Amino acid sequence: MADMVGHWIDGVEVPGGSGVAADVFDPATGAVTRTVALASPADVGAAVASASAALPGWRDTSLARRTQVLFRFRELLDAGRQELAEIITAEHGKVVSDALGEVARGLEVVEFACGIAHLLKGGHTENASMRVDVHSLRQPLGVVAVISPFNFPAMVPLWFVPVAIAAGNAVVLKPSEKVPSAALFLARLWQAAGLPDGVFTVVQGDRTAVDALLDSPPVKAVSFVGSTPVARHVHRRASANGKRVQALGGAKNHMVVLPDADLDLAADAAVNAGFGSAGERCMAVSALVAVGPVADDLVARIAHRTATLRTGDGRRGCDMGPLVTAAHRDRVAGYVAAGEAAGARVVVDGREVRPDADGAGFFLGPTVLDHVTTDMSVYTDEIFGPVLSVLRVDSFAEAVALVNANPYGNGTALFTRDGAAARAFENEVEAGMVGINVAIPVPVSYYSFGGWKDSLFGDTHAHGTEGVHFFTRGKVVTTRWSASDAAGLELGFPQNV
Ligand code: NAD
Repeated sequence: MADMVGHWIDGVEVPGGSGVAADVFDPATGAVTRTVALASPADVGAAVASASAALPGWRDTSLARRTQVLFRFRELLDAGRQELAEIITAEHGKVVSDALGEVARGLEVVEFACGIAHLLKGGHTENASMRVDVHSLRQPLGVVAVISPFNFPAMVPLWFVPVAIAAGNAVVLKPSEKVPSAALFLARLWQAAGLPDGVFTVVQGDRTAVDALLDSPPVKAVSFVGSTPVARHVHRRASANGKRVQALGGAKNHMVVLPDADLDLAADAAVNAGFGSAGERCMAVSALVAVGPVADDLVARIAHRTATLRTGDGRRGCDMGPLVTAAHRDRVAGYVAAGEAAGARVVVDGREVRPDADGAGFFLGPTVLDHVTTDMSVYTDEIFGPVLSVLRVDSFAEAVALVNANPYGNGTALFTRDGAAARAFENEVEAGMVGINVAIPVPVSYYSFGGWKDSLFGDTHAHGTEGVHFFTRGKVVTTRWSASDAAGLELGFPQNV
């Protein structure tokens, strides 16, 4: 492996001209393993120019040939699952089985995009007016940018890139500088699948690269995923520059447990959704809302299960890996301390973890805080770590009001055996993705992924029909071929007859 991870422009890895690089860590050992080039605006310009040059040929490539590339990419990605998962683990820290799960969910979107022909079909109306026909088409936007977060180095890019490419666009991906290598792995697969050079381009970098993309005139649309403050910035700046934007932001996902729930199912789900990927998932459950008398029993079951989890190096078959950086680990631990100081009870204390790992990795063990209230920073802020906060309420109505009062609205879940309560929850709760006895309700690829309120800026969600609409523009054509219908001069507004 080269020491520095570069950009992918015109089908080759290049260092770029900025001369600036950042360290890339192995979070399980704390060691710097590589560096990553940070693009200058000129580097971004080179990437966009490459995409612009490739666009006309790709846009005019038949749907049949475009789809064949997608199918080949699907086969290559399927064959490369393990290698890609290990790349993800080495830079993100999540355990390999979890990384394999993210690749599988990304693969689902590739499979969805293989069938895009059906969704690009327009309508046709014969004789809408006398011997006048109307048909509609959906056309690609042009060069589009995808800006992704650290926590899903493969899946989040794959939410957008296959759909955009299948629809005939050229894509510039700006991955998180913390996890740069997965994007290059994907770039090589696209090339091996037969995608013409330039249709998929990668610029590594930080906010300088992001802002250069947001300001770049040839970039027609931006799909962003990251924290809410940055999502807000991206949405404002790209919109002000006339671009189409979908900016998916942060989250605070609540899992509500009613007294009639299957408590073993709920406890398993809370532990899996709270601590999987060390809580660094936008769909992680971070707030457990226990309704009525269920709380003590539920917390005991969760604490019992949490005590069995093994934290350590993701390559060693552990249940949970490290956090992404030392600074982030310290920040999360700071929230635990603040919660404790504010009166929350630390039922399981991840600060005492003894990880199965060598070196000085960025570990914090799974942590359970009980008696958390809505004014504590451990509740109000997105923590993005392995911290499960338990809030206690007296009624279903109080639980729904608590969820709805939160500014985020990504995912939420209800655990119950009561169908009427489940239906009321589905109807009343203000979140984009809802689970009933499912703690992480990530939609399958042919539905769309996205939150409400401060969890998404823009109006289109990722993949599914909404994803296809985001990456295409509609056009309606009204046609007359009959010269004998010439009506002479008539300046009134045309009416259909
Ligand atoms: P982040 O906002 O720090 O970074 C996201 C991207 O923006 C990265 O590519 C980064 O380089 C860039 N960036 C960072 N600061 C910037 C700035 N000031 N200006 C312009 N660009 C900037 O997010 P992260 O820490 O990489 O990822 C975690 C966050 O992403 C969490 O908040 C999580 O909830 C969110 N997330 C949301 C979803 C979703 O679907 N809603 C999915 C995954 C992650």
